[in-house]
Amino acid sequence: MSEGRFADQVAIVTGGAAGIGKAVATRLATDGAHVVLVDRDEAQLEKTVTTLGTATAIVADVRDEAAVADYVRRTVADYGRVDLFFNNAGIEGPRTSIIDLDTTDFDRVMSVNVRGVFLGLREVMRAFRSQGGGGAIVNTASMAGIRGSRRFSPYVASKHAVVGLTRCAALDGAEFGIRVNAVAPGLIDTRMLRAIAEQDAPSHPEELISQMAQDTPLKRSGTADEVANMVTWLLSSEASYITGTINLIDAGLNA
Ligand code: NAD
Repeated sequence: MSEGRFADQVAIVTGGAAGIGKAVATRLATDGAHVVLVDRDEAQLEKTVTTLGTATAIVADVRDEAAVADYVRRTVADYGRVDLFFNNAGIEGPRTSIIDLDTTDFDRVMSVNVRGVFLGLREVMRAFRSQGGGGAIVNTASMAGIRGSRRFSPYVASKHAVVGLTRCAALDGAEFGIRVNAVAPGLIDTRMLRAIAEQDAPSHPEELISQMAQDTPLKRSGTADEVANMVTWLLSSEASYITGTINLIDAGLNA
């Protein structure tokens, strides 16, 4: 028996090797959950699992239908069930005007951020249904899921789709007692934020990040831990009456 608000619950976290996924996985493990980390970056995944101590690692690409079915099947085979799902893996794609965008770049972003999220939702919701219902899911959308952004159309379109999938999954899952919500982070200090800044300002990415942070009402970027506060609360029984919601974590940028 473990202790904590997720004692003996089984959680899957995609994109769990780094950034926001790692922060959520760490919090879930600290609060008593058995955590299965899914990521395509094997080296980083191994490091994170070693740091966490107790977690299980599965190397998988969330775009791959068979691999997604397999990470859910292996979780249920190893732990007997699954209770919590943080459907979080995502990529930023290019900072390019829609006028100059390549189809391959559009497809690549949609494939990870939309197909990957859909496949994860479907397989985990099937597992929840076969074990008699219940279960909580949080998808990672973005503030890019509720507004446009210049030179960022694949990412913005993909995160709008995550918002739509979240609402539909909440409605489809309700009859089985499954809750589905999304977080919509703003400016969070991870590899992804740095990668975006490097595309926009290759000679001075750190300066650009500071500028963007100063432009938020709270005048700073957020941490992955601050997103984990919201995600773990939405996954917990304290959020038992909440489903189908999109939760901004953006320092007031969209106020
Ligand atoms: P990150 O790049 O640090 O982490 C993303 C993780 O997902 C990585 O470990 C990566 O290996 C993994 N991943 C990517 N593609 C994958 C695939 N096809 N299959 C399996 N794993 C894959 O970035 P992050 O900021 O932690 O991003 C996590 C989520 O948060 C993403 O969905 C991102 O769009 C979203 N988000 C981030 C910010 C931000 O400011 N950092 C803001 C809004 C939303």
